[in-house]
Amino acid sequence: MKLTPIIGLEVHIELSTHNKMFCNCLADHFGTEPNTQICPVCLGMPGTLPVPNKQALINTIKIAKALNCKINNEFIFARKHYFYPDLPKGYQITQFQDPVGSDGWIEIGGKKIRINRVHIEEDTGKLLHEKDESLVDFNRAGVPLVEIVSEPDFHKTEEVIAYLKEVRLIVRNLAVAEARMERGQMRLEPNISLTSNVSKLPDYKVEVKNINSFRFVKGAIKYEIKRQTKILAKGKTPKQETRGYDSNDGKTFFQRSKETTTEYRYFPEPDIPPVVFEKDEIEKIVRAMPETRTDKIKRFVNDYQIKEESVRKIVEDKKKADYFEAVWKEIVDKGNKDKKYGQQIANFIINKKHLIGLPPKEFAGKIVESMKTKRVDENILQIILGEVLEDHQGLVGEYKQGKHEVLNFLIGKAMSMSKGKLNAIVIKEGLIKRLN
Ligand SMILES: [Zn+2]
Repeated sequence: MKLTPIIGLEVHIELSTHNKMFCNCLADHFGTEPNTQICPVCLGMPGTLPVPNKQALINTIKIAKALNCKINNEFIFARKHYFYPDLPKGYQITQFQDPVGSDGWIEIGGKKIRINRVHIEEDTGKLLHEKDESLVDFNRAGVPLVEIVSEPDFHKTEEVIAYLKEVRLIVRNLAVAEARMERGQMRLEPNISLTSNVSKLPDYKVEVKNINSFRFVKGAIKYEIKRQTKILAKGKTPKQETRGYDSNDGKTFFQRSKETTTEYRYFPEPDIPPVVFEKDEIEKIVRAMPETRTDKIKRFVNDYQIKEESVRKIVEDKKKADYFEAVWKEIVDKGNKDKKYGQQIANFIINKKHLIGLPPKEFAGKIVESMKTKRVDENILQIILGEVLEDHQGLVGEYKQGKHEVLNFLIGKAMSMSKGKLNAIVIKEGLIKRLN
């Protein structure tokens, strides 16, 4: 029986706003003294009132928009109840109905991955386990956290990793989150099941919680596929449950049987009225967004005539992309209009990283110089090829009749005529072009 993995993803990303989601405590908690960035609101003291952070909502709109979601203009907050020592209120303020964005998608390697929803919620505190005691730090409690939920559209681990990298690049490009995994600013929860019939979703799924590295996601998925395959081979169905991942032995382990939404007893947060964004306000936010990666890639391919493969390598880093455009400006301003400049700048940026520190003007000078030598080489090549073909017309005739092995002889002749100035690959390409 051939089994296909069905994988979905929940991704949590901390927003890098100045303040927390519902109070004025500082949001950046990394490396802070425990419990120094707390107040009665984020500790959930009775009688306190949460006030939503507008910047966090704006940033969530941007993320949802970049993921091609429909944006709601009325956001409703909800209480999600569960007990855990790092959750001081006994519930988390999140969104249930009417999230910020829904029904989005992004394209990964030509495949559309559907995004179910993008919503905003508050992060929990952190537990520190030491010997025989556990301590709690609430500095993280109330930090704005965006949750991006995909549909179960992945069948391969490579697709999962490519998607995660793309999402991380998108939020970084928007400058709304740093998404540094080693700091826990981006946390991943894959849900995995297996089916022999891809057109129908399996009636169970196993969720692996709180993974903070791409390598561990790979490990967790690989282990789950193996574990579930064994269960299914015995004719049984794996249990719907939540598991953890132990990076030491590369195995997942049982945590709890999966809660259903009814167990969380969601209800609208009575302390926060629905937040309404007027249509033109949303349009204004969208207009002010930086160019999306997809648009940027398209623009680089079209305007600068660079291969998409090279564009991707440049656009992945905003600094490189900006540098490219600065160098391009220098060259075009000098009146150089050759379309090949784009690819040459790209090649230099990708292959000669040590030059990137140069001021764009100097870098541009090197590019222009290199194109000149390239052109001289091209002239020499054509002269030599002309002579070789002229001298060996008999062989040319044989080649045209299908005797392709004569090519090596012609390459050798051209090489010795160029006295080592041209390489065999360039000569071969030039010869084939002229012979066909
Ligand atoms: Zn606070």
